[in-house]
Amino acid sequence: GLTYDVVVVGGGAAGLSTAASILKRRGGITLAIIEPSGSHFYQPGWTLVGGGVFKQSQTRRSEKKLIPTGADWVQAAATGFEPEANLVHLSNGSSIRYEVLVVATGLTLDWDAIEGLSETLGRNGVTSNYRYDLAPYTWQMVQTLGRGNAVFTQPPMPIKCAGAPQKAMYLACDAWRRRGLADNINVSFHTATPGLFGVKEFVPPLMDYINRYHIDLCLKSNLTKVDGKGRIATFENVAGDGSKTTSEVEFDMLHVVPPQRAPDVIRNSALAGDGGWVSVDPATLRHTKFANVFALGDVAGTSNAKTAAAVRVQAPVVAVNVLATLDHKPAVADYDGYGACPLTVERGRIVLAEFAYGGKLAPTLPTWLLNGRKPTHLAWFLKEWVMPVLYWDGMLRGHELMVAPHKIGTPR
Ligand code: FAD
Repeated sequence: GLTYDVVVVGGGAAGLSTAASILKRRGGITLAIIEPSGSHFYQPGWTLVGGGVFKQSQTRRSEKKLIPTGADWVQAAATGFEPEANLVHLSNGSSIRYEVLVVATGLTLDWDAIEGLSETLGRNGVTSNYRYDLAPYTWQMVQTLGRGNAVFTQPPMPIKCAGAPQKAMYLACDAWRRRGLADNINVSFHTATPGLFGVKEFVPPLMDYINRYHIDLCLKSNLTKVDGKGRIATFENVAGDGSKTTSEVEFDMLHVVPPQRAPDVIRNSALAGDGGWVSVDPATLRHTKFANVFALGDVAGTSNAKTAAAVRVQAPVVAVNVLATLDHKPAVADYDGYGACPLTVERGRIVLAEFAYGGKLAPTLPTWLLNGRKPTHLAWFLKEWVMPVLYWDGMLRGHELMVAPHKIGTPR
């Protein structure tokens, strides 16, 4: 098989950003990106597709055009890891050897964990912004619904962009409010989590919108079954005393966010730690057992918010540490757990939740300019106009725009 200095598994947000950052820091090394898909998706844009702001096509580009200069693209999936032998096995039957491995496969959306869901997605009013092909159906439903029950769901944590289930709802509510339909449409939010948002500072501004839109908030309520034709969603509810009950809710529109898990290929490998995610040091992002393996992005077993915003800060940390490892030096850069979740509470305004490990608030801009605990036009402007450019032309190309040097870690 082939041998590379660096093998990156996954050509999504994390894989491409890290590969680009490594090659920008040091040319001349050999690097392969293993990625089966011919398309790359800007998933944070799907919320705005479902909200009628972005066109679907704005969120998709050819993978080939995004592979950084100097990297080889192997269009295959990783099917197995043999970290003791520095080997990755591929779906095309070959294997590839590395000095240093970067694992960035993202996570698996487990649509089939909800009975009856898969066969009704995209029909009968059942939609999800978590899929490229379905996000436009969300907007179509929002535009065509005139009355009835709109139900939005959130599965147990961890999920990528934990605010996205609410974002879809607020944008829908805002559209209905503008069309004078607020009184005709009953909106409910069923989340398996015990609270509306994991970091307490951001709950009050979100509750303001729950109240303003008259949303029926159902905590610890987990979607288990969907009857598309009968338009009935079944939830398992956990009461205060821990007892469980089942409830059936009729819907005219149902926006589902599926349960999410570590990919089987990771879960079933020696790389897996708790929950099947890759076991890494939370600061250096180096594997806890295999010193020449790193992981970042959604597949990493770290407690940060699984977001592209986290990837933006993680990628340079991993790049620096990968190069140190190639030089047989210790890891030098630390990740602080930064992640961000821009909550689209209405069209034109966002509550920008930025926080690091332990839920510590971590605003990028000074509070006088952008207070993340308040809905602001500036945060919306960033989301609609700045973040996509930062993503495509900044982070995917290995530029460290908007990453404060302290976030990349202090050399030890
Ligand atoms: P991905 O970008 O998903 O990439 C993983 C890649 O690995 C894919 O290309 C996949 O094909 C590939 N792969 C999978 N299995 C294998 C294998 N076996 N071998 C090789 N390759 C493999 N983040 C934000 O920062 N802000 C937001 O507002 C935001 N909103 C979001 C809204 C929605 C609806 C969704 C779905 C996500 C949102 N996110 C947001 C989260 C963000 O998109 C992810 O956190 C980010 O894409 C993670 O990057 P990643 O590279 O780990 O995973």
